[in-house]
Order: sequence, then structure tokens, then C-alpha cells
Amino acid sequence: MLRAGRLAVREKHFLTGAVADMARYIFITGGVVSSLGKGLASAALGALLQARGYSVRLRKLDPYLNVDPGTMSPFEHGEVFVTDDGAETDLDLGHYERFTGVHARKTDSISSGRIYSNVLEKERRGDYLGKTIQVIPHVTNEIKDFLRIGEEEVDFMLCEIGGTVGDIEGLPFFEAIRQFIHERPRGQSILMHLTLLPYLAASGELKTKPTQHSVKELQSIGLAPDVLVCRSEHPIPDREREKIALFCNVRKEAVIPAYDLSTIYEAPLAYHRAGLDQAVLDAFGISPAPKPNLDRWTDVMDRLTHAEGEVRVAIVGKYTQLEDAYKSIAEALTHGGMANRVRVKAEWIDAEIFEREDPAPWLEAFHAILVPGGFGERGTEGKIKAAQFAREKGVPYLGICLGMQMAVIEAARNMAGVTRAGSEEFDHEKGEKRFEPVVYHLKEWVQGNHTVSRKADDDKGGTMRLGAYTAMLAADSKVAEVYGDTTIEERHRHRYEVDIKYRDRLEKCGLIFSGMSPDGRLPEIVEWKDHPWFIGVQFHPELKSKPFAPHPLFADFVRAAKEVERLV
Ligand code: GLN
Repeated sequence: MLRAGRLAVREKHFLTGAVADMARYIFITGGVVSSLGKGLASAALGALLQARGYSVRLRKLDPYLNVDPGTMSPFEHGEVFVTDDGAETDLDLGHYERFTGVHARKTDSISSGRIYSNVLEKERRGDYLGKTIQVIPHVTNEIKDFLRIGEEEVDFMLCEIGGTVGDIEGLPFFEAIRQFIHERPRGQSILMHLTLLPYLAASGELKTKPTQHSVKELQSIGLAPDVLVCRSEHPIPDREREKIALFCNVRKEAVIPAYDLSTIYEAPLAYHRAGLDQAVLDAFGISPAPKPNLDRWTDVMDRLTHAEGEVRVAIVGKYTQLEDAYKSIAEALTHGGMANRVRVKAEWIDAEIFEREDPAPWLEAFHAILVPGGFGERGTEGKIKAAQFAREKGVPYLGICLGMQMAVIEAARNMAGVTRAGSEEFDHEKGEKRFEPVVYHLKEWVQGNHTVSRKADDDKGGTMRLGAYTAMLAADSKVAEVYGDTTIEERHRHRYEVDIKYRDRLEKCGLIFSGMSPDGRLPEIVEWKDHPWFIGVQFHPELKSKPFAPHPLFADFVRAAKEVERLV
């Protein structure tokens, strides 16, 4: 069925003789300061357009020079979000997926580094033979080509630009957007700009000047916002909205207040109340606008605000100072709580503590233990202790990626008599040979219908086992029950793998290899047979959890934690 908005675009193109079926573009930029919640605003707007019956895709353009965030430390950049097709992307793509349910692709994330590396590759190949390569037009053309990918598939393409306007690195992106908007039929692209209204306690005033300046900055590079989203810790009086509208050349109804929220999942309803989706549709001249159906978000909020009781989950990890480093895990736990109508209180414990102290007094306070993914040896002995505690005490345990590998090493050392069990990753790091590699460096594996090969001295960027892979589950296993299926697909991001040759010895002790790659060579899931809930997965289930569709592993993990509560 053609929706109202789609039809309008088609007609316009019919009249101008241009190609039919082009998406409308919404560019999202930020000013004044960083960390204003641009990603969240973009994701919430995507959800609101969906609620009005439109199809959307969200994209992130990052000005930094890394080719992708895969090699950045989680301390610096937060979590690396992995797509089904194996791209290592910014954590904002996680927000996009959690709010819209639309699975991101490689082509939904780009950085200056990638753009430049594409341009330089073409230059070496001779694609521009005879030409001098310049930011305009070569770099900007590369950006515009990227923007257009898949435009025929959706009603709205939302493109968020990382950083703030005025950053040197961002300029080619802004210039490309300026050209892009100019080259397309009028009214088919809009710009939404996020700013901050700081509050001066001494005078009790909200200040609009930084917003005016950041809009001026945009105007100086040929861009003008259609919608202004103003973050503020205090209510924005009507006269301030009028003032902003006047000075920034936007309609008053398009000045959207954005206040702090108790949970990020309130964003779609809060932005709707503030008039964001209406302002966006008005800016495109879509009238009458289709009515929104917000049931999904009222249900999400109902589950969040009417939770009974609390379960406490210990997350024993390495990157504990920065919560963004495990963003998707924190969110997936919240979703697991929503599925069980219970609040989940996650506490981060630095695994290194357990290398000095007995974990029992720390962990006894929790209903469940989660050991997340990670890289490098630091903290791993502590994670092994946490896995041992969970196994011995019957506490629900979810091990993700490195958290699964540590559970297997714990089992090998303490149950199967492989006393020197360890991961090759740690020996590689130190350049020593201390461990028996129960977890080894994977050099060859099957992806779809081809074989991927790796060498020990390969580049570090983009060479892990990345993206969605199928796993086959043993029919009588706990995981098959949890998933309600025996074939699953989950996203991976790791270089090392549990060695199948230890399977028999470990299974004899009760650690069942309940999920395997389709060729039967790669262990994907392990679980302790006689344990209330102990599951280790080689993949990252947290990446696919949504507030309106909690991931079954997280939902059941929290259910098991809740059972513990009942026993207490
Ligand atoms: N460092 C481990 C590996 O590369 C685990 C990775 C992870 O937890 N994502 O296999």
C-alpha cells in the first residue's frame, strides 16, 4: 500500500520527470556541546515516523579518521556495535536498532577515515586519472554516494552527523550535505539541529546565545535548520521559544524542547508530546499527516514504570569506569527486566578485584552474575573466579564471548583437570607460552558458502569473526528451550574460539556444548547440565535485544535471577 508521504514524493518526481521513489532525507546535526543525545533524538524520531506508518533507515556519519571504531578502546569510544553484515560501528547504531527494530547494515555507518581511504584507493587504481584530488568534489562526492545508498527502499533516511558544527573534521560532511540538499528537488531534505540552552542559576535564566551562535555557524557554511531541538534542564518559557525562532530563522512550532528523561525509552513519547514528529512532517509539507500509533511505546513505558521488585545483577568486567562500554548489555538487561516486569539493577564490578580478594563477599549480594566480552588478559583471572563462584553456588550466570571463554577455562582447570588451561590470546599478548590453549586463535572458518582465512600477523582492524552466524542448538538443551528454536542467528566479534578437542572431556564433567556452528567445528554455546541457569555464548545476544522484543536469553536470565529472589 502506498502511504500518504510516499505518494507525495512519487508525484513530485512524476511532475519533474526525475526518477521515482526517492527517500526524504533528515540530517541531524549538533551544536554548542557534544553528548546532547543526538543519537537518541534521531532514534526516537525514527520510531515516531514508523508510528505514523513510514519506513525509515538511520545512518551515522562520523568525522574521525579511524576507518571504523573497531580498533578504538571502549574507554575512549564506548561500545563497538556490530551489524549483521559484520560492520564494527558506533554505539549510536545500537540506539537506532533498539528504537526502530530496523537492522543496520555496513552502509549505515561511515567515518572520514573510510571516505578518505575509499578516495585514495580509487586514486591509486586510476579512477580519477589526470585529475587533482580535492575535498570538493572528490571527498564530497564520495560522501554523497554513500548518502544515496538504498534510498529507493525507504520513506525517510535519517542521517546523523557526529561531533558538533564547527569541528574541522566535520566540514567535508557539512559541505556534502549542503550540496546534496541543493541538488535534490526542493522540500525533500530537512535539517534538524540539536543545541543546548544553558541555565544560569545566578540570574535564573536560560541562555539562548550559544544556540544562536551555533545556528550562525551552520548558516556560514550554507545550511539552515528547519527544526531546532533544544536540550534544557529547565522548562523553556514561551517567550524564549519565540526569541529562538526569531533569531535562528525557524518557525516557533519547530523549536522543540528536550528535557532530561527518567529513561531513554521515554524519548519517543516525550518528543511526540513536544511536537517533534509534527514539526518534521510540517517541514516537509506533508499534510494531512498520518495519525501516529504509539501503542508500542506506551506499552514499553508501562512495563518500565510498573515493575515489581528488583533483581541485582553483578557485571564482572574490565571497562567498568565507562558505562557506555557495555551499553547494549545494560539495555538488554533492562529489556529482560521488562519481560519479567521487574527492575534490574546492574552493578559493575572490576574483575581485577577478584584477583586479590575472595569474590564470595562481593557476589553473594547478587541474584545473578554476568561476565561480558572483552579483550586482553587483564582481569581474566578474576572473571574465571566469578564463573567458578556461579557454578559452585548455583547462581545464574550469563557469559558473553570472553565471559563464555572464561567459563570454559574455569571448567577445564577445576573440573576436567587441564590445570594449565588458558587462552592463546593472553600468550600472544605477552609473547610467552604459559597456557594450554583451550581457547585458541581461529585461523579458518566458514561464512555462508565461503571460507575465511586469517594469519597471526594480520592487521587488527576488521579481521575478527564478525557479524551474524548461524548456530545449531541441541534439541534437549536449556538454550533450545529458552530460544524456542534449534536454529538461531547471532552476531559475533572475536578472534579466539573454544577448541572442540576438549568437548568430550568437558561434557563428561557436565559442561554441555549445546550450540555449535552448522559445520560442527565451532562451539557457540556451553551450559552446565546440573545448574539452575549457567549459559555461556560465543556471540553477543545483547546486540539484538529491543525494548519491545527483549532477547530470549536476557529475558530468561532475568527470570532465573527473579527465581533466586523468591528463594531468599
Ligand atoms: N578477546 C576474545 C576474542 O577475541 C573475546 C572477544 C569478545 O569478548 N568480544 O576471542
